[in-house]
Amino acid sequence: MARRRMVYEGKAKILYEGPEPGTFIQYFKDDATAFNAEKRDVIDGKGVLNNRISEHVMGALNSIGIPTHFIRRINMREQLIRQVEIIPLEVVVRNVAAGSMSKRLGIEEGEPLPRPIVEFYYKDDKLGDPLVTEEHIIAFNWAQQQDMDDIIALALRVNDFLTGMMLAVGIKLVDFKIECGRVYDGDFQRIIIADEISPDSCRLWDIETGRKLDKDVFRRDLGDLADAYTEVAKRLGILPQNGTKPSSGPKLVH
Ligand code: C5P
Repeated sequence: MARRRMVYEGKAKILYEGPEPGTFIQYFKDDATAFNAEKRDVIDGKGVLNNRISEHVMGALNSIGIPTHFIRRINMREQLIRQVEIIPLEVVVRNVAAGSMSKRLGIEEGEPLPRPIVEFYYKDDKLGDPLVTEEHIIAFNWAQQQDMDDIIALALRVNDFLTGMMLAVGIKLVDFKIECGRVYDGDFQRIIIADEISPDSCRLWDIETGRKLDKDVFRRDLGDLADAYTEVAKRLGILPQNGTKPSSGPKLVH
């Protein structure tokens, strides 16, 4: 394969220059990190699973008119995406108390929230991605008021759609994180969803048993992470129900 220019390397993904202007290739690594990369490991097959699950979710969002950067999957670990100007925020939507919200506010994990809550974290590893308000975001010019209105509307639409998608396969969507970016179509600027939507960026609990099917399995040493992600892929119909988890040569259905 011809050498490609690497544009950016993150903790779980690499971006390469794409085949056409305005595109990137997003490569999913097997690296798992948590607690701002203090805990790290390599989980065989994780990148393959996240590539497929994110394709499934973002493709479905595109098809119902929720714009994302996803164009098409190229191979087991790579997808073609639109280049965006990333807004430096992690946008979290919560339906059930868990994780940092439970810790911060002393609410027991699993307590349903009275309504979905949208939070913003400023993307800065050195600061540990601090929680910020719209006031900070607008005052420091990380995004404009109109961008924030669009981002909140997008985040809540994703929440409704993803809640239903997961509910249909016996999974409770506890919370998730998205990232957004700007694209320019002629004179118009719009906000679309970027990055990935996968069990790395969502909390997914089995409705019957409460089993965690997301990155908390790694964060909290609860078992085999690839097994949990494989279960999500199987339920969503991405992997055959009787298939084994992917490693170097997974058997995936189209
Ligand atoms: O840790 P916290 O409870 O704030 O996480 C909320 C949601 O955002 C979880 O689904 C988590 O997986 C996701 N998240 C993420 N990347 C981060 C922080 C949180 O995907 N850097």
